[in-house]
Amino acid sequence: MENQVSEKVNCLIIGSGPAGYTAAIYASRANLKPVLYQGIQPGGQLTITTEVENYPGYPDGIQGPEMMVNFEKQAARMGADIRYGLATKVDFSSHPLKVQIDEEKWIEANSVIISTGASAKWLGIPSEQRLNGFGVSACAVCDGFFFKGKEVAIVGAGDTAAEEALYLSKLCSTVHMIVRRDQMRASKVMQDRVINTDNIKVYWNSETDDIIGEKKVEAVKIKNNQTKEFSTIPVSAFFVAIGHEPNSSIFKGWIDMDETGYIKTIPGTAKTNILGVFAAGDVQDKNYRQAVTAAGSGCMAALDAERYLGEQGLH
Ligand code: NDP
Repeated sequence: MENQVSEKVNCLIIGSGPAGYTAAIYASRANLKPVLYQGIQPGGQLTITTEVENYPGYPDGIQGPEMMVNFEKQAARMGADIRYGLATKVDFSSHPLKVQIDEEKWIEANSVIISTGASAKWLGIPSEQRLNGFGVSACAVCDGFFFKGKEVAIVGAGDTAAEEALYLSKLCSTVHMIVRRDQMRASKVMQDRVINTDNIKVYWNSETDDIIGEKKVEAVKIKNNQTKEFSTIPVSAFFVAIGHEPNSSIFKGWIDMDETGYIKTIPGTAKTNILGVFAAGDVQDKNYRQAVTAAGSGCMAALDAERYLGEQGLH
């Protein structure tokens, strides 16, 4: 039988970034006995970042991966049942809600907290896909090390691109930064750091036309939007840092979303259009996208879930 249920839980949390783990901490302490599925990247996006300087409570900053280990430990200590596994399908047509894990096991849940976060965006040019893993990367912190002393390129102009360009500038001989407009979106302080770094060369009004290389990245071809001229820069790696998209595809058709796939919540709450389903963190936040706001919304989701379960006589 399809949708054969193998387990029933009171509160199912999907995702293991700051939102998911904070929801797990609150839900555990409220005795909701949450089960949390970590997804394919346990700890979420912070596990591929370096120093986190803006999370309150760490006066000297903390490394992203270490912070996420702390989040997990705290949730586990409170009693959350933390499991490795990916939610692959949902059926929210009736209560209890149903969530499929790893394309096989179905779990019934009285409440679901969606905290699946967001993932890196790609340019969408064929050479980017072909050379992915062969010099093309969306994570400077993960892969920059392999290009020590080499020339590399990075595309993007937000805080992520700025942060990653600075990170790469400490490892690589030159960082060629490709910016599509005549200005950056990154915060002023990050922009200043980029501009004042000698070995970061910014190419304004420039778009990536192609990434060149047979088996590995050898150069990037860019086009100046104003002069319409093309130029080729020899590089060993090409880093993509052009933002993120919400990991919400499995909820399409069930949960209300905006045109870019961000889950809509009722303002001031973590409630979605489906009773008993709550959303927290980057999957429902295209504005702030910070670890601390994600954690805050994870707390809201757990409190909303607790109230909902109480009202339904399920807690
Ligand atoms: P953003 O959406 O802020 O920036 C994306 C950048 O990529 C923009 O500059 C955009 O250009 C550019 N871009 C998008 N598509 C393309 C394309 N096809 N070709 C070329 N360039 C493209 O994403 P970020 O990941 O940088 O940041 C997300 C959020 O996280 C932000 O709120 C940011 O402040 C925050 N953040 C904070 C950090 C910190 O505080 N330490 C560190 C990292 C992120 P355009 O400007 O022209 O649209």
